[in-house]
Amino acid sequence: MPRPITATIHPEAVRHNLERVRQAVPDAKLWSVIKANAYGHGIENVFEGLRATDGFAMLDLDEAQRVRNLGWRGPILLLEGVFELRDLEICSRLGIWHAVHCDEQIDWLAAHKTQVGHRVFLKMNSGMNRLGFTPERFRAAYARLNALPQVDEISFMTHFSDADVEHGMDHQLRVFHETTLDLPGERSISNSAATLLHGDENNVRCDWVRPGIVLYGSSPDFPTHDAAHWGLEPTMTLSSKIIGTQELHAGDTVGYGSRFQCDGPLRLGVVACGYADGYPRVCPTGTPVLVDGVRTRTLGRVSMDMMAVDLSPVPKARLGSEVTLWGRASNGVVLPIDEVAAAAGTLGYELMCAVAPRVLKVVEGAGK
Ligand SMILES: *Cc1c(COP(=O)(O)O)cnc(C)c1O
Repeated sequence: MPRPITATIHPEAVRHNLERVRQAVPDAKLWSVIKANAYGHGIENVFEGLRATDGFAMLDLDEAQRVRNLGWRGPILLLEGVFELRDLEICSRLGIWHAVHCDEQIDWLAAHKTQVGHRVFLKMNSGMNRLGFTPERFRAAYARLNALPQVDEISFMTHFSDADVEHGMDHQLRVFHETTLDLPGERSISNSAATLLHGDENNVRCDWVRPGIVLYGSSPDFPTHDAAHWGLEPTMTLSSKIIGTQELHAGDTVGYGSRFQCDGPLRLGVVACGYADGYPRVCPTGTPVLVDGVRTRTLGRVSMDMMAVDLSPVPKARLGSEVTLWGRASNGVVLPIDEVAAAAGTLGYELMCAVAPRVLKVVEGAGK
């Protein structure tokens, strides 16, 4: 038997979460963002759940190729555009749309020999200061692109730095709209947070939204609102088993550094999960965890392959008992990934992306 740790992917939950986005912005087209191998879920594992999308957006050409291999004939968008001139050949061949965020990418297009007109999303740096043309340089870039025979259609995009904060998008929205006001073309501005929190507002409404994290069941503004508030379901369950137990007495300590000390008798379970599986080492004593679907807490330091949990609330737990690190337990109880992430001082994004390759991924319902 392999080590009992598993990441179970729930395609029905992915489908449900996509539908939630649809309801939030019924008139917009959806770019389902599947970068980072679908936020750690595996593109192939979520593809069926995302069938009802209007397009797929990612960063890597090989991920785009994988989506085409799955039979997707609809739109595909490279959010960072291409990384060198040769990449444009693959875009031509596979009909991939791509962002254009810098002069070099326009130079490559101008030098690219193609029969196929490219569809591009001209990206504005409206204040995030990551990728894109500043508002001052945006219209010149548009004019250059517009003059190229290689370019068939130009759309406009920008990305928010503070969509989860009240009025956090105001400044970026203003410069984006001011700069693109009279330019013809589709617009794409909203990530998950902008879509769910503000998608129905007039100046936020756009042709294409770009939801990522909400498709994977994390709240875009945790802890203000949790995933249940937004009607999102967990798409990944990280589960393992109890592989050992210990009966502790007052004064006993647990794990490396003896970071936890008992003040009375306590039954401890050892779980086959550690930081080498992608569970954050920084999670302190008290991080929530489910044993047989009952909420309890971690004890002491997370080590490479194991961690300890408090079995006091689950007296029946024994060797082989189910442990849910995040996601949905067999009895239906949910431990939101956002809660575990918060205990680690990070976001659900990082946890789902960090699940280690040695963790077996299983697709719920597959092979039935
Ligand atoms: C990752 C990404 C998104 C999706 O962001 P979420 O917060 O996961 O919804 C949208 N647009 C761009 C450009 C991105 O890089």
